[in-house]
Amino acid sequence: MRTAGDAFPFPPVGPRRHGAGAVAAVAQALKPLQAHGLRLLVKAEERRRLSRDAYDYSPVLRPQLATAQAELVVCPTTVEQVKAVAAACAQHQVPLTMRGAGTGNYGQAVPLLGGVLLTMTGLQTIRSVTADCFTAEAGCRLVAIDEALAPHGAEQRLLPSTYRTATIGGFVAGGSGGIGSIGWGFLRDPGNVLGMEIVTMEPRPRQYQLMGDAAAPLNHAYGTNGIIVALTMPTAPLQSWEELLVAVPSLEQGLYLANQLRRATLSIKELSLYDEQIVAMVRPLQGLCTNLTDLGGGCGLIAIVAAEAMETVKRILTHQGAQVLLQRPQTVAGSLRELTWNHTTLHARATDPTWTYLQLLLPPEPAPVLKALSRQHGNNLAWHLEAVQSQGEARWAALPLLYWQGAGALAEVMETAQALGCTIFNPHVITVEDGGSGVVDADQVQAKQTYDPAGLLNPGKLRGWLERHPSA
Ligand SMILES: Cc1cc2nc3c(=O)[nH]c(=O)nc-3n(C[C@H](O)[C@H](O)[C@H](O)COP(=O)(O)OP(=O)(O)OC[C@H]3O[C@@H](n4cnc5c(N)ncnc54)[C@H](O)[C@@H]3O)c2cc1C
Repeated sequence: MRTAGDAFPFPPVGPRRHGAGAVAAVAQALKPLQAHGLRLLVKAEERRRLSRDAYDYSPVLRPQLATAQAELVVCPTTVEQVKAVAAACAQHQVPLTMRGAGTGNYGQAVPLLGGVLLTMTGLQTIRSVTADCFTAEAGCRLVAIDEALAPHGAEQRLLPSTYRTATIGGFVAGGSGGIGSIGWGFLRDPGNVLGMEIVTMEPRPRQYQLMGDAAAPLNHAYGTNGIIVALTMPTAPLQSWEELLVAVPSLEQGLYLANQLRRATLSIKELSLYDEQIVAMVRPLQGLCTNLTDLGGGCGLIAIVAAEAMETVKRILTHQGAQVLLQRPQTVAGSLRELTWNHTTLHARATDPTWTYLQLLLPPEPAPVLKALSRQHGNNLAWHLEAVQSQGEARWAALPLLYWQGAGALAEVMETAQALGCTIFNPHVITVEDGGSGVVDADQVQAKQTYDPAGLLNPGKLRGWLERHPSA
């Protein structure tokens, strides 16, 4: 059996390996650019705040990352300024960690070895938009991109539930999918990212336009192997979406009902299911029901469907004994989307922060897994399911909540889930590989060799590189 240490491997945090004066030299080199809009943040409080992301959902990561902190935060507004930052860091051999909005969940944007943190939120130009695709600078917020797409009759295919704060660069470098994954799969599926403009980490940074397969190794690489300055992504046709909150008698019936909806020829953007425990913990879910007891004792289903599909959806729901508690057009703020994916975890933890979570892709027949794990863990496990497409197949992902009883207990749940056929995306580890398929992707490591030959970008996060360069 795996030990807790095997399940949660962790590279060392600090001490820094760059020279004592190196960061000061970087700051000195960048000072002239302040007159052109570049900001340098040196105050301890700002550096502390920006050196974090949403890793506190993991009681394993929390203590491990607590002390990691950038020595300098740089906020550029142009690609030329990004190149100047890369050049200065490469010249002085200072680690550089990229940051979008800092909403990642696994300490992805935490600078393990100090150095410089480069925040991309100042690069906000949407360079081109058509009905089929857009090119946007990496710091653009996803919500702003959808606003720009709407007049062209288009919208983004995939959004994380953090779409109002997250950047497109952070989503592609650190995210995986979310709202829209029911139809469009995940960001790493071929076709979901068309191209990237990148800057290399060298004393004389180069700028490349990578298209198709050439961009794939930088997709979900946590900014370890290149600085993404702009992205070209395909769109989906803009639809008028309706949000539904539905009470279903049990998780099994909810699954059956959701599968009925998926089999019908309907445009569906999002389907997520919650068991009774989650319904009780996610206060906004209850607040949305006219009567708190509407969902009491039962499970909840959030469905986001095209307006023209509403009548069919309601007919299917009524036949299955489900009750529509809320129907309304999709909004930007306060949307039911902000109760799905890891927002469910966020809201549940607001009620009781002792809970943590896992990320699983369930096997094609999920019911036996749900039953077996529930039998084993009782009320210490609560189910939150998300409908996704994985490699062209309709599947269910799960973000179950787990009552924290220590790393050993967490490792055991993962062990059982794996034995039952689940694929685990461990949110309690720091490297790209350990949080993903577990396997080193040679193309990601090769891209680091090519675009970051000194290994300065986001050190400690690419296991394949650490294995090749043990002293890195
Ligand atoms: C409540 C909650 C809900 C969430 N829901 C989802 C969800 O539905 N789906 C999902 O996929 N994720 C989800 N996440 C995780 C996260 O919000 C998303 O992945 C988001 O898109 C990250 O964007 P960001 O701008 O905050 O990136 P950051 O967190 O700042 O960065 C993420 C990673 O990308 C790297 N990076 C950032 N910008 C660049 C760049 N320009 N070039 C190279 N590397 C870069 C960083 O170094 C870091 O490793 C959720 C998180 C929370 C807290």
